[in-house]
Amino acid sequence: MVGKILAGWRYDISGIAPEMRGDYEDHFAACEHCRSRQRLHRAIDVSLIVLASLSAGMFLLVFGVIRHFAPRHTLWFEIAALAGFALSALIWLLVAVATPAPMAVVDVARLGARHVHDRLPPEIRERLPEELRLKITGQS
Ligand SMILES: [Zn+2]
Repeated sequence: MVGKILAGWRYDISGIAPEMRGDYEDHFAACEHCRSRQRLHRAIDVSLIVLASLSAGMFLLVFGVIRHFAPRHTLWFEIAALAGFALSALIWLLVAVATPAPMAVVDVARLGARHVHDRLPPEIRERLPEELRLKITGQS
């Protein structure tokens, strides 16, 4: 029952108020199936964002290359490159708005920062500003 609801949401509970999440968090804690589905869906969201970014960058690059090296008789190629860029940007926006991918990226970045932080020599770690340390580790 809870699993079915979660499947309908693509296993994303980030939009639910924290005090309403209890049942779903309990289910995630108890159900390996839903946990792995959640990881899969977040991986798909993040890959879509990364792919859309790469493709937008590629189209811009193509546009720049055409402009720079062959300025004549290339209007249609330029239009095609710009249309490709616009489409990639639109997909990027849709994924960013419709999925929790941005939050997932923030989580990954925070994990990475914590990883680096834990490997810093103590004397450097001590010099980090208090707020920064709090943000990275979630504890003081
Ligand atoms: Zn389940």
